[in-house]
Amino acid sequence: MKLSPNANPPEPANLLIRLHNETGAAVDVTGTTAYLNSSWYCHGCGDRSDMPELDSLNFTRRNANEHATACRASHHRLR
Ligand SMILES: [Zn+2]
Repeated sequence: MKLSPNANPPEPANLLIRLHNETGAAVDVTGTTAYLNSSWYCHGCGDRSDMPELDSLNFTRRNANEHATACRASHHRLR
């Protein structure tokens, strides 16, 4: 399987957790450990949290991990 060129993108200052999807693309959880205000972003396919301002870290971490487990995109050209 082709490995992602996005396995090690620059780390955001507010990075909390970095996971990797099926091709090695980074899936970053960013934000704060406060009750709300965390989000995730997949460097493989460009998908992200729907409503980051309302998401708790536990919710975001679970969703990011589920996405990383299922996602097979190595990179994208979406903006
Ligand atoms: Zn993805």
